[in-house]
Amino acid sequence: MSTVAPQTFNAAVVEKFGPEVTIKEIDLPKPGPNQALVKVLTSGICHTDLHALEGDWPVKPEPPFVPGHEGVGEVVELGPGEHDVNVGDIVGNAWLWSACGTCEFCITGRETHCADAEYGGYTQNGSFGQYMLVDTRYAARIPEGVDYLEAAPILCAGVTVYKALKVSETRPGQFMAISGIGGLGHIAVQYAVAMGMRVIAVDIADDKLELASKLGAEFTVNALNEDPGEAVQNYTNGGAHGVLVTAVHEKAFGQALGMARSAGTIVFNGLPPGEFPASVFNVVFKGLTIRGSLVGTRQDMKEALDFFARGLVKPTVTECALEDVNDVFDRMRNGKIDGRIAIRY
Ligand code: NAD
Ligand code: ZN
Ligand code: ZN
Repeated sequence: MSTVAPQTFNAAVVEKFGPEVTIKEIDLPKPGPNQALVKVLTSGICHTDLHALEGDWPVKPEPPFVPGHEGVGEVVELGPGEHDVNVGDIVGNAWLWSACGTCEFCITGRETHCADAEYGGYTQNGSFGQYMLVDTRYAARIPEGVDYLEAAPILCAGVTVYKALKVSETRPGQFMAISGIGGLGHIAVQYAVAMGMRVIAVDIADDKLELASKLGAEFTVNALNEDPGEAVQNYTNGGAHGVLVTAVHEKAFGQALGMARSAGTIVFNGLPPGEFPASVFNVVFKGLTIRGSLVGTRQDMKEALDFFARGLVKPTVTECALEDVNDVFDRMRNGKIDGRIAIRY
């Protein structure tokens, strides 16, 4: 074991729910059994981190905590016991930080719904700091030879949309409408294209739609200027087979029903804290499936990273420093981010 780590390090800490994190020194944690200490190299900044900071959701984290669940770093120390990673390996933290491994969800390939799961950057300190702990049974293994700044967004945005596209049951050649072309959505466009789907992008900002076109969307709709349901119905001659909503506004969730084809599947990834209107008649008459999808399992992560390592998916990433996190959150609130912003330490 090589411990070159200092006793304290800089992190972005949520001291109370509100608009800003505090950049401060905190104590270096000691890895316990099944845990490793990781020197963080890069970390994506997900909209979930902003929801965490603002205490948006019914299930809340307990301040003080360090957000961040798209962290890539090097293992510098292993806790007691056996591990299947070594010091020097490059690993990632994720939203699914750990789970119990034995409950009905864990043993049936649905470990993200384990009631005893721990969440990176939420119930466990995350990657908005120079060091973090991971559970070596759940940490992502980062493939060799990849760019670590681009790898970071795969750890949440990538695996989340990849899993959502899988559970949409949309087949190659069918239409997939993706609503919300932010951190998640711009990567979703690329996975959907790689999976052979015909992609339609919906957002409320023209620059996001331009990015979607560059990444392979064949048709785009600005939901501020026209009714996305009508536009998608017309273009696809009856609606999209799959609809994926990553948007952060409730309005997009109601609109998704209008975009779907009869017998289509709508998958919700976005997590605005509110509710959405759904016409019971439309759901029944069109035989729609509406499905929520939460990140992905370790197997989904492996597959999502494999698409990335083979060059089929390339996140648009802008680099920032840890000290810039509050500015990044401001830009995120105003929808002014192209793709993802990631911290480089
Ligand atoms: P982001 O801020 O990068 O992107 C959000 C996008 O939504 C922006 O492009 C914005 O222009 C667009 N948008 C806003 N209002 C819209 C509307 N009415 N119609 C269409 N588009 C609209 O956020 P992100 O990091 O991509 O995260 C998106 C959401 O997904 C967040 O709520 C986040 O918490 C959630 N999330 C869920 C999971 C999961 O496992 N289900 C995982 C990660 C993130
Ligand atoms: Zn479990
Ligand atoms: Zn996330």
